Amino acid sequence: MRMENSKGRKRVVILGATGSIGESALKVACDIPERMEIVGLAAKSNAQKLAEAANEVRPESVCLVDETRIDVLRRALDYQPRIFSGEVGLLEIACLTNADMVLVAIVGTAGLRPALAAIEAGKDLAVASKEILVMAGEIVMREARENSVHVLPVDSEHNAIFQCLESGRGLSAPKDRGTEAAPTFQSSDVRRIILTASGGPFRETPRKDFDSITPEQALKHPTWNMGPKITIDSATLFNKGLEMIEAHWLFGVEMDRVEVVIHPQSIVHSMVEFADGSTLAQLSYSNMRFPIQYAVTWPDRVPNTLPPLDFSKLSKLEFFTPRYDDFPAMNLARRAGETGGTLPAVMNAANEIAVAAFLNRQVRFPDIWRIVEEVMNRHAPVAHPDLDAILQADQWARNEAQGCVKSLNR
Ligand code: NDP
Ligand code: MG
Repeated sequence: MRMENSKGRKRVVILGATGSIGESALKVACDIPERMEIVGLAAKSNAQKLAEAANEVRPESVCLVDETRIDVLRRALDYQPRIFSGEVGLLEIACLTNADMVLVAIVGTAGLRPALAAIEAGKDLAVASKEILVMAGEIVMREARENSVHVLPVDSEHNAIFQCLESGRGLSAPKDRGTEAAPTFQSSDVRRIILTASGGPFRETPRKDFDSITPEQALKHPTWNMGPKITIDSATLFNKGLEMIEAHWLFGVEMDRVEVVIHPQSIVHSMVEFADGSTLAQLSYSNMRFPIQYAVTWPDRVPNTLPPLDFSKLSKLEFFTPRYDDFPAMNLARRAGETGGTLPAVMNAANEIAVAAFLNRQVRFPDIWRIVEEVMNRHAPVAHPDLDAILQADQWARNEAQGCVKSLNR
């Protein structure tokens, strides 16, 4: 049993420390030092940025996956932390004995193995990497239950839903923080989970103009500043599709109770409609420091330097029905989530390849949807897959999607 004190300082390892979420997490740690201590930082290859972050917060351990850059890291560090490297190193830093929590903020699927290793080592998880819940949500949540660790959502919508469920008593209150399993969801209390979506930069763009959308245009998100992959996902609305499946696994709610509403201002981060018809929403400015902080301090709330909402300056909050036919990602995700098995992993992997091909100017913007749909159509899903079956389906989908990219590029 962990001797963790909910009022004390949480010792956190950040996987993906050099990314957009990683940067926000470092700011949270600087803002609430009495509640958050960084004990490990990991990145893939950006040795310089990793060293700068480490020099500032001085974790005991750092990890760079790309072994060829370790010398650069060593030279740039102004102290001597323990250094891990390679994919094995990433697993090791995810299991540090002095850590309470691992924040998984690695883009794509590379966070899955370290997340599972952390769970097995008894660490609470703060999950930003929605891809790992999409591809292996059943396994991640089962392992978390079996190892009595918490899975705390960092994605702003899911953090909002988590807060609404807690407030509406859709989640059982934590009793003994040392021994209880992941928070349990009282399914019968909830009628609908309503994910908000900004709609991305092409919310009002006519469909006939989609073919000419450039990566530069798609990388300009109206309300959030994020890494390139999730920014493209926000433009295609695959981000919302991935989030529908993420909500299904995190909160154990069927896909047909997960809905999406377009909310261009990104102030209401999501809502829960309860059985009695009351709806709870969580509001704040769009800054990932809010959900990261709550994942770290949960179940407590502590003061910070973030600006509270100024309602006199919020001229309006709007809500619209999504353009499902023009942005097919949400229908594809619903199909993947309802079918389950290996299909969500296939959708996710095909999307990763298609996004990379769009950013490399090999395919056009609407080809992202076409590639994902084509690969999904070719797949024969395996029900309740184990990790090997998921990773096989992931690799198969990547190869198929590459084939689609080549044929579109001809
Ligand atoms: P970024 O592209 O900004 O950063 C990605 C991070 O992952 C970098 O630190 C990168 O290291 C690291 N990384 C990439 N591949 C590997 C690997 N194979 N092994 C170890 N580390 C790796 O992404 P974001 O911060 O935007 O997103 C991270 C995750 O959080 C994504 O899953 C995204 O969907 C999710 N998310 C992000 C939000 C946001 O506001 N940005 C909001 C909600 C969810 P290096 O720099 O060395 O390449
Ligand atoms: Mg989100």
